[in-house]
Order: sequence, then structure tokens, then C-alpha cells
Amino acid sequence: MGSPVPSLQTAAVIEHPGPNGIVRIDDAHPVETPGKDQVLVKLAYSGICASEVRALLGWANYKPVVGHEGVGIVVKIGENVSESVLGQRVGVKWLHSACGLCSECQRGSSNHCIKPAFTGVHAQGTLQQYVIADSRYLTVIPDGIPGEVASPLLCAGLTMMGGIAKLDEHIPKDGWVVISGSGGGLGHIGVQIASRLRKFRVIAVDSGLSKRELSLQCGAHEFIDFATEDVEQRVKEITGEGAHACLIVSGSEAAFELAPKLVRNNALLAVIGLPAATFNFPLAASVFAAKALTVTGVMVGTEQMMEELLQQTAAGVIRPMVKVEEFSKVPDIFDKLKNNQVTGRIVVRIPQ
Ligand SMILES: [Zn+2]
Ligand SMILES: [Zn+2]
Repeated sequence: MGSPVPSLQTAAVIEHPGPNGIVRIDDAHPVETPGKDQVLVKLAYSGICASEVRALLGWANYKPVVGHEGVGIVVKIGENVSESVLGQRVGVKWLHSACGLCSECQRGSSNHCIKPAFTGVHAQGTLQQYVIADSRYLTVIPDGIPGEVASPLLCAGLTMMGGIAKLDEHIPKDGWVVISGSGGGLGHIGVQIASRLRKFRVIAVDSGLSKRELSLQCGAHEFIDFATEDVEQRVKEITGEGAHACLIVSGSEAAFELAPKLVRNNALLAVIGLPAATFNFPLAASVFAAKALTVTGVMVGTEQMMEELLQQTAAGVIRPMVKVEEFSKVPDIFDKLKNNQVTGRIVVRIPQ
């Protein structure tokens, strides 16, 4: 099983969460011991989701170590866990564990559990060398998918599978879908899922040349730059009455304000991006009624969706755009995410 597990490790730790929050690399962070149903995973890669900026800014209570796109090897098991799990290459996701008993867990949607625990919120996250995970909610990574490619599937990809699954009953097969925030970690995988797997026509909305190129490479029919174009007018020109659905992936308040103006009557708005908790969906109730809009929230996706996504990635249909960086860059990467300067997904290599 390789070298023994140390008692201290390297981790990226958030200190003073709030307006002056910082991320510090700590070389003496304790390694935890797996309890009942738990395993210890020695990580090789972790993606960094833009939602972690919320932890840095102190928008909600997080653990000091965040990160929920970890890929590594199980090196230690707790009570009640089969020895066959040792040595498996696994993914550690946003859903750390669920109750297993509520109506949503019973129907296979543990992502909607009434008593969930989240990685980085209720358990320390994956921006460290060794992470505790619940053996019942791990994802086995198939051979043939490199660790750095699997990482962004675990939150970004799965969340977009969850969001796009909600479109099926709302829009015709070749319907128009706006994805706002199309060039980011979630958005660019969402463009691929919507266009390649579901055959929808995607209007990608984001800003800048690199996000334009990535969105079009991922299969978007059209790209609109929100910084230089009138998004509402362009969407109407392209679609006539407006899009059938809008996936609001961006966490910017402006994206939420714009979304209801981009869709036709009887359309679906899917809330994926996470602005500050004090921000309400900006639309008059009377407009909801008059336009017969449906608003849905998205909280990652099911284990079944995770399986489909891994299969489609192994088959080469879905291709996350990943930039691998060294672990020492984690503080800089948080700064870039905060300033919306990351195209695709940055994944860090965990020191071995
Ligand atoms: Zn995430
Ligand atoms: Zn439950």
C-alpha cells in the first residue's frame, strides 16, 4: 500500500474568512482518522470550484480546508468498510454523505437529501493530501480517465448533468438553451452536455476571447459577449421569441437579473450559480405568472448521472478543459476565481 500515512500533511487553509480572507499553505495540518463507514483517501488531484470563493469571502460557514473535486487512492478504511475498497481510485464529491432514509435518498436522489453533509462544509475538503470520505458516496473512477480530467466532472460536470436533466421535459429536442457563464468550469462542460448529449442548440453567454473560443469549441451554436453586446437583443435575434430555457451558471447578480428577459413564455430558468445568500431572485411575481415561467434549483446530480458522465468522458464525447497547476498556486487561483479570470477548470496537483 505504499508509504505509511503521516500524522501531518500539506493543506491549503482559509484564514479569516470575510473581506480580508486569505488562503495559506500549511505544511503541518493534521491527518484525520476514518470513522465508521469512512475511508482515508490519498489525493492526487483536486479541482477548484468557483463556489469556494464563497468560503474565502465568509458568505457561509465552511471548514478551513475546502475543495470538492478530489481524485485519489483509498489508503485506510474505517469500521464497517469492505477491504476491497483499499487501493481503489476514487472521486470525492460535494455530497460527503446523506441520511439514506428520507424520501429523496430512497428514490436515488441523495443529492436532495434532507440531512446532507457537504465536503468542505461538514467535512474537511480536498485541498489537502489526505481527505476523509464516506465510503457509501464515493465515485469509482474508471481506468482510462486521467485523474486531472476526472476531477472537474465530480462537481462541475455532475452539477451540469443535474441542471440539463431538468430541461428534458420543458423544451423540444432542438430547443434553444442559454448558458450564462459558459466559459467557466461548470459552463463549458454544460455546453458540451447540452449540445453533444442532449442535442439542444446552445447560446453561450460569457465575456472575452478565451471564453468565446472555448464555448464554441464545446459546441455552442452562438456566443454572446455580455461586456460588449446587448445580450437580450441578440438572443431575440437568434431565437425569435426568446430561449426555451436559461441555465444561470454564473454567480453574478447581473446574470440573474438578465435571465428572465432572455426566455420565451412557458420557459425554464435553472439556478446553478450561487450569489450571496442575501440576494433574491429579481423578478416580480406577476411576471412569473404572466410569462408562465418555471424556476428550478440545481444541487449537483444523482449517482446515476455521475456514471453516465464518466462513461461519456471515457468515450471521448465529453472533454473537460483542464489546466493543471502546482499546489503552491492555490492562493493565486482563488484570486483569479474571485475576479472571474479562469477559463475552463483549474485542477491542482496534490504534493505526493
Ligand atoms: Zn463545486
Ligand atoms: Zn436523505
